[in-house]
Order: sequence, then C-alpha cells, then structure tokens
Amino acid sequence: MREALVLNASFEPLSTVSLRRAVVLVMRDKAVVEQSHPGLRLRAAHLDIPVPQVVRLRRYVRVPFRQRAPWSRRGVLVRDRHRCAYCGRRATTVDHIVPRSHGGGDTWLNTVAACAQDNHRKADRTPAQAGMRLLTRPFEPTPADALVLALGLRDGTALPEWLAVPGPAAGSAAVPVPASA
Ligand SMILES: [Zn+2]
Repeated sequence: MREALVLNASFEPLSTVSLRRAVVLVMRDKAVVEQSHPGLRLRAAHLDIPVPQVVRLRRYVRVPFRQRAPWSRRGVLVRDRHRCAYCGRRATTVDHIVPRSHGGGDTWLNTVAACAQDNHRKADRTPAQAGMRLLTRPFEPTPADALVLALGLRDGTALPEWLAVPGPAAGSAAVPVPASA
C-alpha cells in the first residue's frame, strides 16, 4: 500500500496517510499535490491526477506535539546510512547497545546499524563488556529524517530541492523543511 506524506500549510511534515486518503484531501480541495511519483497517474471516471507522494494542506493546522519517528529496524539502518557503528563497513543488521536480555529496548538511542560480523561478535554483551567502541552516537531522528523514512526513501537525495536542506546528522542527506515566513 502506497503512502503519501502530508505537510502543513507551513511545509512542516505532519504525518503519512494512505494514498487513498491523500487523494481525497486533494479532491476535496483540502490539500494540493507538492510532489508526485514521476510518470504515475491515477485515472478513473472523472479523475486524472498525478499519484501524490507529498501533499500540502491549504489551511494551517496547529499541532500540539512535535512529530517523532516511530522506531523500526529499517529506520535505524536508514538513520545510520547502512554503516556499521563499530567498523564503518556496510551494515545489514541492527544491534541493541544494551542487549534486550539485559533490559535494553527497541529505541533510537539503544540501537545502531551493525555489520553481521560485529553483531555476532558483540553477541549478548554491552560494547564495554565486548571491548568494542562505537564510532558514532545513536540519536533520535529529526523530523526531517522521519520524512525520509515516511516516504520509504534510502536518503534525502531523492527529495525535491525545496525540501532538501543539509541536516545535523551526516550533513548530506537529512532533509528538514525550510522555515517559511
Ligand atoms: Zn562492523
């Protein structure tokens, strides 16, 4: 099932919705399509619109909470750009810094991308117990990272230029939304 990202009128990412819901927002004139899947169109009896990837609400809605990205294994790999936190080589697994057997949770701050060898070597121990050093500190993804995750992208480079601003993490691919006046 495809999803679309919903931006506030101010361009802040709000949430993702089903493609169907995004189309309804556009059809009801509640939102405009900001970015669509290249070459894909939705066609029905009285309808022929590009398949929306990002829609933006016409009216600003007040949001009480800052958007947080839900934790996922895939999210950790994307956040860490598929780099092993212990050796820097390509990572395909997710390591719990404090192992789950020791009470470590599925959280952004307790998980890092790791190559299979290092994950296996570290096993059921903390980095200190295993004598392994983290090359990078895990962090909570920014709303911009959440945007990349929500769109199912590998990184921010596939986003349109107006969304792409250098982020704090790796400096190249994070994508916060420009502040609009
Ligand atoms: Zn490694």
